[in-house]
Amino acid sequence: MKYIDEFRDGDVAAGLAEAIRREVNPARSYHFMEFCGGHTHAISRYGVSDLLPDNVRMIHGPGCPVCVLPIGRVDQAIRLALDEGVTLCTYGDCLRVPASDGLSLLKAKAQGGDIRMVYSSADAVTLAQKNPDKQVVFFAIGFETTTPPTAVAIKQAAALGLKNFSVLCCHVLTPSAISSILESPEVRQWGTVPLDGFIGPAHVSTIIGSRPYEFFAEEYRKPVVIAGFEPLDVMQAIRMLIRQVNEGRAEVENEFSRAVDRNGNLKAQQLVAEVFEMRKNFEWRGLNVLPYSALRIRSQFAEFDAEKRFPLDYRPVPDHKACECGAILRGVKKPQDCKLFGTVCTPENPIGSCMVSSEGGCAAHYTYGRYKDLAQ
Ligand code: SF4
Repeated sequence: MKYIDEFRDGDVAAGLAEAIRREVNPARSYHFMEFCGGHTHAISRYGVSDLLPDNVRMIHGPGCPVCVLPIGRVDQAIRLALDEGVTLCTYGDCLRVPASDGLSLLKAKAQGGDIRMVYSSADAVTLAQKNPDKQVVFFAIGFETTTPPTAVAIKQAAALGLKNFSVLCCHVLTPSAISSILESPEVRQWGTVPLDGFIGPAHVSTIIGSRPYEFFAEEYRKPVVIAGFEPLDVMQAIRMLIRQVNEGRAEVENEFSRAVDRNGNLKAQQLVAEVFEMRKNFEWRGLNVLPYSALRIRSQFAEFDAEKRFPLDYRPVPDHKACECGAILRGVKKPQDCKLFGTVCTPENPIGSCMVSSEGGCAAHYTYGRYKDLAQ
């Protein structure tokens, strides 16, 4: 298949692995964080880490939108369905995220909540159109990639004059999460995660471009290479990061130039700015409350804001005591460091959010890497 097979070619991968081996400095170690859950999935699925020299370590970052969704937000969605009687629509992965009282959206559905999986925000608008006697709420999560379609849905609902559609907005912003990792007091205190550079997200960068990462490169002296999702994309990005480190450079480079440019999708950015504004504070799972790290709906679209339409206060809820998702999302621990990994906590019975989506560090390691642990 054109444009896919080329980026999974085993011979090219072997050549790239050899080139990386030649270029690494054996006297030092390299720690790179792949921010994006899609990269985590690709690295685990294609065994990219196994092709790297021992002194090049990949660290999973917090770039899985399901993983960073805090329990308190899932609780809000459940309360809407069970207490307010709304039809709650969301993407499939959200349904299994563990919430309070042993619940998840899926379990709340089993208790009688009208909770539906949709493939797009537009499906939720259509549902509202077809069911004028029901309040339909779209539980909107995700990074900059999924935000423009939510903006379109709100504008569409406004154009249609829908009185029964609203959005529980939980969209978050990538650059804020990267800043938090670099400045996180926990990471500083534990001092266990040296980071030499980042693989920048693919889909997110198609929207925001590569420009927002220039700040990190300059301010924190950390190289960033934007990469596509295929294994050869990731390997090429690792090679580019190694070169930057070896040469003492800290720049933003773009391996994914077939889809990303410096400015991103200006039309999508404009649409998002029209409908959303920054939230002062937002809690992330595993990263605590981060200032200016998420979006809320602008007052001119307030009638489509579920937080304004329904009595929804936010109550933060701590993770399961033994769950290490917080440390994993910050790159401080690996999935196999968690006592619950693969025993109590599995993709069929996730205890923490990192085990839910295939992009989560624990789920990716459980699916593709756990037998390697036994062999070691
Ligand atoms: S294995 Fe489960 S409980 Fe442990 S950190 Fe991962 S998601 Fe959390």
